[in-house]
Amino acid sequence: MARKLAAGNWKMNGLRSALAEAKTLADMFPAPSVDILLCPPATLLSGMAEMLSGTSVEVGGQDCHTAASGAHTGDISAAMLADAGAGYVILGHSERRADHGETDHLVSLKTTAALAAGLVPIVCVGETFAQREAGETLGIIRAQLSGSLPEDCDPARLVIAYEPVWAIGSGKTPTLAQIAEVHDDMRATLSARFGDAAADIPLLYGGSVKPGNAMEIFDTSNVDGALVGGASLKAADFSGIVKAL
Ligand code: 13P
Repeated sequence: MARKLAAGNWKMNGLRSALAEAKTLADMFPAPSVDILLCPPATLLSGMAEMLSGTSVEVGGQDCHTAASGAHTGDISAAMLADAGAGYVILGHSERRADHGETDHLVSLKTTAALAAGLVPIVCVGETFAQREAGETLGIIRAQLSGSLPEDCDPARLVIAYEPVWAIGSGKTPTLAQIAEVHDDMRATLSARFGDAAADIPLLYGGSVKPGNAMEIFDTSNVDGALVGGASLKAADFSGIVKAL
């Protein structure tokens, strides 16, 4: 059985004043039965890690470079994220694939870099609405999984997030049957590659998860948690999702 993970992706949101939300969240769950993770923008990472040190809430980055260091202005390496206190990094989010042209191959290189730095990569996959309408969803997800996970990937240190592009920030979600179809297929795809170890890979759903729909999504086949955007920004909202898990 995969462990349960409630992960918040703050995206490009949050000034230093927002750190108080992370502290409030940690104070609400002194001994949670699930893993809780916040991925703030890079500017807040070390401040949040210091604030949450000794609590049950972990921190992660939202992207990393493929290289460990060097002449890459504006970029951050996986080792730097780890040095700042991160234990995880989100990779291949659809917003990075769209905004920065990230390909499956680039995501696989970043995944290798993250694992080498001791981080747990959260590798994101998901179809566009046009792809779903065309009946291509499962094929797209299988291709993204195959292309985004490197040869030497350790399944024991891997998290996958299924985020339909059209469900992100839209208030729309797939039906529970559609979520189950994709998550069951991802588990089968990962089992074909990693064998029994695939059962322990947390499969997160992401896209308009709110306190009000979290419970039914978490009851869905092969859903081990959520990657939450908007509803992770306020402890009052995110705590409802953590409780549902
Ligand atoms: P929302 O929860 O705001 O839809 O965002 C989901 C997401 O992209 C998390 O990575």
